[in-house]
Amino acid sequence: MTTTSGTPTTPGDTAATATDRQIAAAEAHSAHNYHPLPVVVATAEGAWMTDVEGRRYLDMLAGYSALNFGHGNPRLIAAAKAQLDRVTLTSRAFHHDRFAAFCAELAELCGMETVLPMNTGAEAVETAIKTARKWGYRVKGVPDGRARIVVAADNFHGRTTTIVSFSTDPEARADFGPYTPGFTIVPYGDLAAVEAAVDDDTVAVLLEPIQGEAGVLVPPPGYLAGVRRLTTERNVLFMADEIQSGLGRTGRTFACEHEDVVPDVYVLGKALGGGVVPVSAVVSSHDVLGVFKPGEHGSTFGGNPLACAVGLEVIAMLRTGEYQERAAELGTHLHRGLAALTGSGVTEVRGRGLWAGVDIDPALGTGREVSERLLARGVLVKDTHGSTIRLAPPLVITKEDLDWSLDQLHSALPR
Ligand SMILES: *Cc1c(COP(=O)(O)O)cnc(C)c1O
Repeated sequence: MTTTSGTPTTPGDTAATATDRQIAAAEAHSAHNYHPLPVVVATAEGAWMTDVEGRRYLDMLAGYSALNFGHGNPRLIAAAKAQLDRVTLTSRAFHHDRFAAFCAELAELCGMETVLPMNTGAEAVETAIKTARKWGYRVKGVPDGRARIVVAADNFHGRTTTIVSFSTDPEARADFGPYTPGFTIVPYGDLAAVEAAVDDDTVAVLLEPIQGEAGVLVPPPGYLAGVRRLTTERNVLFMADEIQSGLGRTGRTFACEHEDVVPDVYVLGKALGGGVVPVSAVVSSHDVLGVFKPGEHGSTFGGNPLACAVGLEVIAMLRTGEYQERAAELGTHLHRGLAALTGSGVTEVRGRGLWAGVDIDPALGTGREVSERLLARGVLVKDTHGSTIRLAPPLVITKEDLDWSLDQLHSALPR
């Protein structure tokens, strides 16, 4: 027997809750490539989600920053609904009437010239890698097959075979070889290490301006500016993966702006799709993205009309600066609140804007335990790397809700 929502039910299991049944069915019929918290979300609005039992939770993860504008943002939903009634997909075999505006306005937001739209973040990173290699051979003059890209240890750039080839996380990488060559890994935040790694075959340095998955690691002051200087001097592309750090999260449109740095290439995703559809892009100059000729790269869904319509609304919302300002103001408030927790179960807090990595004292407990206690208190967060809790609420969260979440965190800390 199956209910309308697809939940299998068997006579006699009336004691099982809807949550238990949904989780058991998911366990039975899905690959176990995630370890979700035991909550089954049914609806969401703004910073709040409601589960299948009718319980409400404050979303302090925001889809890893894909939901910067909150759940069901009225402007984004309206843009999507309007486009659903017009045309949703053409493929790039034909032009469509949302494409030019999306590319022009995204380029303008980035202070760049040219946009190459894709869907997921990993695809945009792959696109950036292909861009850098082709640019290296065609423009810089690197001998064929020799191009190298410098990346940072503890990076997270996605899950494709090439991207996990330069991951240093054994969980992400083990058993997925043979690995793609051509990457040099250096410690994050160490400018001298980047300098030592760059040689005549180096085509790009690819970095997260703040490392998200690694635990919201902010590099030392001067690092990004130093990488910018070095890459300019050595004719190497500086590619900033702003998929998680960008589009308002840190209090600026891009995290690179905190050091007045403009990279050669922005890699964007997550919030660009407004939490509605996957939208990613590589944004750069005509010189760099001009290396692609017809047939050399693409994606059936990349730059589709629905994606462009939602992306255009995201860009319009970012253009006002109000979300960035909100992230900066509430971020100062958040970090002040978190600093007060240091010492009582928390060993360190890092971050910028509405984004924080909170290290739980490993002698007292794990990140997972704190996440589960917060779940019971109506706050949704997710641990990363064992002992870190990442906080990244939707930028539309109210100050009152943020304060309430800090109270809950205080109560949930191990002692
Ligand atoms: C999430 C993320 C990616 C990958 O994006 P997907 O859409 O999950 O493929 C790449 N880089 C960074 C910095 C990310 O946070």
